[in-house]
Amino acid sequence: TSFDQMGIGDDLLRGIYAYGFEKPSAIQQRAIMPIVSGRDVIAQAQSGTGKTSMIALSVCQMVDTSSREVQALILSPTRELASQTEKVMLAIGDYINVQAHACIGGKSIGEDIRKLEYGVHVVSGTPGRVCDMIKRRTLRTRSIKLLVLDESDEMLSRGFKDQIYDVYRYLPPDLQVVLISATLPHEILEITSKFMTDPVRILV
Ligand code: AMP
Repeated sequence: TSFDQMGIGDDLLRGIYAYGFEKPSAIQQRAIMPIVSGRDVIAQAQSGTGKTSMIALSVCQMVDTSSREVQALILSPTRELASQTEKVMLAIGDYINVQAHACIGGKSIGEDIRKLEYGVHVVSGTPGRVCDMIKRRTLRTRSIKLLVLDESDEMLSRGFKDQIYDVYRYLPPDLQVVLISATLPHEILEITSKFMTDPVRILV
């Protein structure tokens, strides 16, 4: 399969090729189409497999850039990963004018408020700061259709379990969920059974 055969819009394809990608990696070949078609997906994958670009691409394909509401939320265990995902999304989504913002601890809350009030399509953040922004009603959740939990096992080992459940409680009921994890311990399976419906399982 090539990127052209995956139902990706022309402007997004231009962004992918301009970014320097020629062929989708294994996880991109297997996960993007199910996500774009609306399925819940569990991907067991390590970093280095192309998972960050897989998330960026899937999210860019699903957002409606004519609206200025947050439609996708990506949670990551570290500030670095949350920022990297935002960066890849802005680069690949350059031609579709996707607006993304990283909500991460250690950055000014004023900047988060300014960006979120201006309006962004996607938020990539760490669970603590995202939870805080939701509770302040700065991050509006009513139009969020997709939740991505990246490096889920790492989020749990960093003690973010309660915040993940907290965030989930604020999201609309017909939510699509994509979970990425290198390992699938009991606590991850608990999340998949509580948050997901008939998920597609991918092992790369
Ligand atoms: P990731 O696992 O998303 O952090 O990606 C690991 C590395 O592979 C990064 O340097 C990406 O830019 C690169 N990469 C991801 N997908 C592709 C692709 N389809 N073609 C070439 N390089 C890629």
